[in-house]
Amino acid sequence: MDYEKLAELLFKNIDKTPEDYEREYPCRNLPEVAKVTRFAPSPTGFLHIGGLFAAFIGERTARKTGGVFYLRIEDTDKKREIENGVSGIVKGLSDFGITIDEGMLTETESIGKYGPYTQSQRKEIYQAYCKDLVKKGLAYPCFCTAEELDAIRKTQEENKQNPGYYGKFAKCRNLTYDEIEEKIKSGTPYVLRLKSAGDETRRIKFDDAIKGEIEMPENVQDIVLLKTDGIPTYHFAHAVDDHLMRTTDVIRGDEWISSVPIHFELFKVLGFKLPKYAHISPIMKEDAETGGKRKLSKRKDPEAAVSYYHEVGYPKEAVLEYLLTIANSNFEEWRAENPEKSRDDFDFKLSNMSKAGALFDLVKLNDISKNYICTLSKETVYQNTLEWAKAYDADFAKLLEENRDYAIKIFGIERGNEKPRKDIAKWQDTVEYTKYFFEKPQNFEWQENLSKADMAEILKTYKTVYKDGETAEEWFPKVRDMAESLGYAKAPKLYKKNPESYKGHVGDVASVIRVAVTGRRNTPDLYEIINVLGYTEFLERIDRAIALLTE
Ligand code: GLU
Repeated sequence: MDYEKLAELLFKNIDKTPEDYEREYPCRNLPEVAKVTRFAPSPTGFLHIGGLFAAFIGERTARKTGGVFYLRIEDTDKKREIENGVSGIVKGLSDFGITIDEGMLTETESIGKYGPYTQSQRKEIYQAYCKDLVKKGLAYPCFCTAEELDAIRKTQEENKQNPGYYGKFAKCRNLTYDEIEEKIKSGTPYVLRLKSAGDETRRIKFDDAIKGEIEMPENVQDIVLLKTDGIPTYHFAHAVDDHLMRTTDVIRGDEWISSVPIHFELFKVLGFKLPKYAHISPIMKEDAETGGKRKLSKRKDPEAAVSYYHEVGYPKEAVLEYLLTIANSNFEEWRAENPEKSRDDFDFKLSNMSKAGALFDLVKLNDISKNYICTLSKETVYQNTLEWAKAYDADFAKLLEENRDYAIKIFGIERGNEKPRKDIAKWQDTVEYTKYFFEKPQNFEWQENLSKADMAEILKTYKTVYKDGETAEEWFPKVRDMAESLGYAKAPKLYKKNPESYKGHVGDVASVIRVAVTGRRNTPDLYEIINVLGYTEFLERIDRAIALLTE
């Protein structure tokens, strides 16, 4: 077979050679330790939290070593693509502060010298490498139809042989030039296949940065390199792109582990240096139904979508902090010892990642987020809440803008002190959190142990006891004295000793005032709430509650 002639027949429009591309995309001028990593999603518009996690790990790895992190769009599967799919991904990353050094910025724009960073625009590059493989007799066109491939599979099943297109089953391996030429001339569709030199009895071995040493049988399949439309398969594009973009560490989902033997062979026949692989296990979740663990599912779990975190308003710092917690289990301890340090100071290690799959836990994320939000100033909370509301709750945004100073005061309650309250995990929580400040309560969580008449008596008295401008120090002793004068124990302890001597204790009394003012039994500091509401509003609320209790 004259392979040169075959290569010309198949790729007559391709005049560039691998050498041209090697020159165009030279090795990066980086220190030895610097790692070049990438995030390479398909533009499906949906960014899974597992994707954000992988991107984050890639970014951390590059940053830590002074390397490069880039975004490549893998759009070789046109069926899965949606319109503006790239923007969804770019936004997903930027919402969570993951910045790229190179790659796609919008649907059409990119930065960096190693592009195009969208696979559909790299067709000629892939084909140049294919042409070269054909020239060397390492790849060939295959004209088998779906029916023929089916028939091969059936025979293999019947004879209990390994399925696939390989060895003696690879019938298009042996076509002559004339046969090929005739088919091409008559317009028969074909794919380009690798002529695998693999041997089932041999094994490959590699040291996965996360999973450790892995051994697998060599690839023997004549896998497809180019599909009938001339677009490469994932495998071939991975080899060409990660080589030409000079990726040093391929960090990706562990669903690709089983394909590593294919990638080994491709890098070898193409004459490329193998990258280091790091395969991330999927993020898992406790399954309420079965009690076991399962993968976080796009269909069942709203929190699988990265957009969810933005929509409900988790601060990006909290999400990143959480991702680091599930990425490296020693991060939590480090954080406890270094509460003030930047995440960048943490020595993130791929080798410390969970091999089995990190367990995703919203309760934990909420805790981390509350701990973070409680350290922010009232102005920052206001600003972040407003930004969130502008995107997702226009009415609330309007309310916040029209009542700026008042809203800041609300967010200032029990903030900035030694033990700030941790009521807010996400900006969406502030709608409910601030509700009773903006409207008089509609429902009242009254105490069950007191009669309506007792509660009305407390409120009527308190109206006369509370004075505008009272200090925090004066406030509680006055409530306590009033409680005592109305027949309540001035401390819960006293009440517990002699419950029959009292109507209740000071806590019950304070609770009646709290519920009258806010509708709720559980709120931040009541004194501060009354102050923020203002004296007039306080009186109106007390009067309204008295009226409801005595009607
Ligand atoms: N486009 C592939 C995916 O979304 C990327 C895998 C990789 O990072 O190589 O699964």
